[in-house]
Amino acid sequence: MSTTKLAPAPMKTALLSGPGADFQIVEREIPDPAVGQVRIKVQACGVCHSDVFTKEGSWPGGIQYPRVPGHEVVGRIDELGAGVSGWTKGQRVGVGWHGGHDGTCTPCRRGDFRNCQNLKIPGISYDGGYQEYMVAPVEALAAIPESLNHTEAAPLLCAGMTTFNALRHSGAGPGDPVAVLGVGGLGHLGIQFANKFGYRVAAIGRGPETEALAKKLGASLYIDSRATNAAEELQKLGGARVILATAPSSKAMSGLIDGLGTNGNLMVIGVDTNPIEVTPLQLISGTRTIQGWSTGSSIDAEDTLRFSELTGVRPVIETYPLEKAAEAYARMISGKAQFRVVLTM
Ligand SMILES: [Zn+2]
Ligand SMILES: [Zn+2]
Repeated sequence: MSTTKLAPAPMKTALLSGPGADFQIVEREIPDPAVGQVRIKVQACGVCHSDVFTKEGSWPGGIQYPRVPGHEVVGRIDELGAGVSGWTKGQRVGVGWHGGHDGTCTPCRRGDFRNCQNLKIPGISYDGGYQEYMVAPVEALAAIPESLNHTEAAPLLCAGMTTFNALRHSGAGPGDPVAVLGVGGLGHLGIQFANKFGYRVAAIGRGPETEALAKKLGASLYIDSRATNAAEELQKLGGARVILATAPSSKAMSGLIDGLGTNGNLMVIGVDTNPIEVTPLQLISGTRTIQGWSTGSSIDAEDTLRFSELTGVRPVIETYPLEKAAEAYARMISGKAQFRVVLTM
């Protein structure tokens, strides 16, 4: 009996040939999973602002090109690499920013995989989800509940997990006043999680047009930072226990520090390269803190997904087919998307 090996079918990818290059839709061979990896047939991939690192080549550690971006990946396992146990073909999985860790560095040895010194990031360290198939190491996989649809699950893997995880580690308890700065891609999820966690949620946006949406998402109070002094408004509530700073503006964050209550915590997740300005006295009086937070590991992603399934937290999305990756990316960069852009395969 003779066996004829068929040429592997090609798949579509949206790749970048170098820093600053335009997206190209290119056919490539479907990759095989190596030891400890699975292959995922991708169904959806979110377009996150951090994809700018790959698009523009601005990642501090450097990027090898060509590279396929994407770290909000949802799909089904369609092949297992050698040595993989605990995951099955056909299983629904997601991959977020945490795309693998070495298990041997000092933070990993302490169980702090999120801060692995050799953290792998899909779309930066290896090809991500802007393609029909991708491979990923098992430690990057999050199981996805069947009731979440793939386009809604995708943004929960980065934007959702970041806000969920930052808030649940923020020190706020049920009933505490918690402010969410910014009603955008991160903020619209942060408001929903904060509401479901039982906080008294104050959303801070710019202009009156955002108020109705913020309240619909679960804010009990909307503060228009153009019309009022947001820090003073927070003090009227007794001061915020936590301010989740999602807007990428150090200036806006600096202006809110006086809105923190005693033991208040400014949780910084919005990225800006300018310094936050604060005086020692602002921190000492009321023993306030400023803390940064970066996403989470795959088990945090799973917690986020299960909590979202349970409570109805969902991202507001715009979808584009993979072939329109350039358009989808431009829409995300414009800041006009309502609120997360998702590619479908
Ligand atoms: Zn992201
Ligand atoms: Zn490590």
